[in-house]
Amino acid sequence: MSPTGSACVVILGGTGEARELAARLVGRGGVRVVSTLAGRVREPRLPAGEVRVGGFGGPERLAEWLRAEGADAVIDATHPFAARISASAARAARLAGVPLLLLRRPGWVAGDGDDWRWVSTLEEAAESLPRLGERVFLTTGRQGLAAFASSPLWYLVRCVEAPDPPVPERMRLLLSRGPYSLDGELALMREHRVDVLVTKDSGGGRTEAKLSAARRLGLPVVVVRRPAVPDVRCVATVEEAVSWLGSAVG
Ligand code: NAP
Repeated sequence: MSPTGSACVVILGGTGEARELAARLVGRGGVRVVSTLAGRVREPRLPAGEVRVGGFGGPERLAEWLRAEGADAVIDATHPFAARISASAARAARLAGVPLLLLRRPGWVAGDGDDWRWVSTLEEAAESLPRLGERVFLTTGRQGLAAFASSPLWYLVRCVEAPDPPVPERMRLLLSRGPYSLDGELALMREHRVDVLVTKDSGGGRTEAKLSAARRLGLPVVVVRRPAVPDVRCVATVEEAVSWLGSAVG
């Protein structure tokens, strides 16, 4: 139980679902909601309720913090590619004896007319590109661009904040944050004469329009597979997370 006497729910955040969940729980009342963010983005969209920014220093420290906060439940609502914090949360929750739920949106599924090439890493994505085109729309975020740094291809790189070097030599940087519309994505890809799209299998609706646009334009898409998830209870929607909480903290 938290110092305030009400049940304390910790949400590991950094996603739209994490914000949605925090808003739902704060709106309902009766629980103390503490969201945590890595602190990567200078001006993050803040969730409702209390917010803690910055890493913990590993699972043992996270476990200590959970105990100190009197956490009654943890919901890991981080991004599907944030593998370190999810592994850390799984270990910390075990150490602290706090129930943990993973809220993970489903991955994207190719449909009729899609030309998707699955790869396991950004390096593999970079290797596959010269066979697919000259002008690349790279939407994998600002981390890991080193994999494309020695590539002679042209890149339209879209991310929330400017990446640190090394980055592709021939790069046009587009700083923006979704959600994106199909019309917008079609116009952008046409304007920059994009030949191929690279994306992580992030899932969800906020950034899905680029996949529909690629299908419409007949472009290949290189899709980076998700990292493995820890062996913990997992749900796909905010709704399911809310009902799990009902049983976890009463
Ligand atoms: P990561 O590699 O799994 O985490 C690196 C370290 O950052 C973790 O070990 C942890 O530090 C700290 N950290 C990460 N998420 C945290 C959180 N919610 N609260 C407190 N500390 C956190 O994660 P990442 O890929 O760098 O992503 C960072 C954040 O951005 C995540 O919260 C994620 O939800 C969000 N995000 C990531 C992506 C992506 O493509 N990776 C996309 C959109 C949003 P300590 O070990 O010191 O505790």
